[in-house]
Amino acid sequence: MNGHPAKRTFQAIRIEVNNEIEPLYETVKQCVQCLNPKGRLCIITFHSLEDRAVKKAFIEAQGKCTCPPDLPYCVCGAKSEGKIITRKPIIPSKEEQEENTRSKSAKLRIFEKT
Ligand SMILES: [Zn+2]
Repeated sequence: MNGHPAKRTFQAIRIEVNNEIEPLYETVKQCVQCLNPKGRLCIITFHSLEDRAVKKAFIEAQGKCTCPPDLPYCVCGAKSEGKIITRKPIIPSKEEQEENTRSKSAKLRIFEKT
């Protein structure tokens, strides 16, 4: 293998990360399918890569309507499973972070089925 010796290490890490993150993303999307109407899926992650996977799955489940905003209803055919309740992830309060240091990296995101 040519190039910088660290290349190999980074490649191994990347493969490992993809193996962990991709199933999480798929699982979140499947969980959304299983929700009852008005049911909510609440997910707490402890790592930014996990959070990104959850966010991506939620955005996808929410559907991306590409209609012009002045149209009275959707004509682009975007399918939406529901909506993201948490525009930004909910994070622990300062007090909680001081009391429980492991909570520092926690992020809560919520999705509600239509
Ligand atoms: Zn639309």
